[in-house]
Amino acid sequence: MTAKVITRYPPSPTGFVHIGSVRTALFNHLFAAHNGGEMVLRFEDTDKERSKREYEDDILAGLAWLGLPYSMPAVARQSERTAVYQKHIPKLIEVGAAYEAEAGKDNPDKKVVRFKNPNVKITFQDAVRGEVTFDTTELGDFVIARNIDEPLYHLAVVIDDHEMGVTHVIRGEDHISNTPRQILMLEALGFERPQYAHIPLILAPDKTKLSKRHGAVSVNEYKAQGFIPEAVLNYLALLGWNPGGEQELFTLDELAKLFTLDRVHKAGAVFGLEKLKWFNHEHLKKLSDAEYAARLKAFSDKGIDPRLIPLLKERAQTLVEAVLMLETEFDFFGDPSYEPALLLQKGKILPEVASNHLKALTDLLEHVPHEGFLAAQLKDIIWPYATAQGRGEVLWPLRVALSGKEKSPDPFAIMGLLGKEETRKRIAQALQNL
Ligand code: GLU
Repeated sequence: MTAKVITRYPPSPTGFVHIGSVRTALFNHLFAAHNGGEMVLRFEDTDKERSKREYEDDILAGLAWLGLPYSMPAVARQSERTAVYQKHIPKLIEVGAAYEAEAGKDNPDKKVVRFKNPNVKITFQDAVRGEVTFDTTELGDFVIARNIDEPLYHLAVVIDDHEMGVTHVIRGEDHISNTPRQILMLEALGFERPQYAHIPLILAPDKTKLSKRHGAVSVNEYKAQGFIPEAVLNYLALLGWNPGGEQELFTLDELAKLFTLDRVHKAGAVFGLEKLKWFNHEHLKKLSDAEYAARLKAFSDKGIDPRLIPLLKERAQTLVEAVLMLETEFDFFGDPSYEPALLLQKGKILPEVASNHLKALTDLLEHVPHEGFLAAQLKDIIWPYATAQGRGEVLWPLRVALSGKEKSPDPFAIMGLLGKEETRKRIAQALQNL
């Protein structure tokens, strides 16, 4: 019987939870879910100065928003796991794998714990990078604990991974050089070696390390910008992994079904905001109208006319963009008063030309029954006329007459929404204005 797969997500709460960290959590979740296992979360807060509770909260909020499941040990902060570490450090000394030594000239009374380096080459099989070998000689007898109770970071990681039953360590490539020293320690402790997988880093479009100026802000910032979790998860999954084939849009469950480590890439993955927006738009389009409206509510407390949802879905890449459209271009149900010059595209169209077209359109629309007053049908009726007469000179005055705005959805969509009576009224008003 093989052991249950346990992966881990051990963030250091020293900053807001950025995209790269979330991608690591996602890969750990996908691998665990694919294999019927689970992901454990712990906080690696050994850096006391920089670790903050607000960052822990940010990480948890990010995972909750994304809907990534995890379990947590009863004591999840390394800073509170002293009792666990106390069980193991003396053992290392007992078996002769470590020894206490003076901390240094400035601290003659303090004793640190040093690892007795056997000076060997360590080789491990990395699920992404293949066979990896490091010579550990240059590490010397490295310090592993501040004192007999307090491990330094690498020893805490090794003990925690063992205590939490971790079978697979999936983490960023920047940790690969830590692996040999962690293997030295876990072997001295008699622990089983987990399977390692070092995943490629996420890069900015200019191939440099992704940083704040590239948008590597907290994932919760993306939430505030109107991205939806389905899209963020989908896009992040494809940063450094690919299931093969043409399909790009996946749900979290579909990703978990497909995820294997042998398809993780070795090369760094470039993060592009435009691509993320594309994924967001595609996932927004997949929501039902009711669900779309519900998500919009988090961004706008104004009531939303349900007839606008299909238009928003078509045009807005983010929910924030949708709200902005509702407040500007899409705000055409009320009184459409405007500067009459706008009807003429600020002088580009002659008044007689605009008047003639609006009159002709009035006649065309007269024959359309109320039930047929729908965007697609209206377009079929008007398009040939506009094409023959010049689209700009026909459609611009019509659109302004209907919306009163310089920017708005196309006139067919607006007419469909306003209905025949209101459409007729607004065109008549425009003719008067001219
Ligand atoms: N705490 C480390 C980090 O946030 C993770 C270390 C590991 O995965 O072993 O980068």
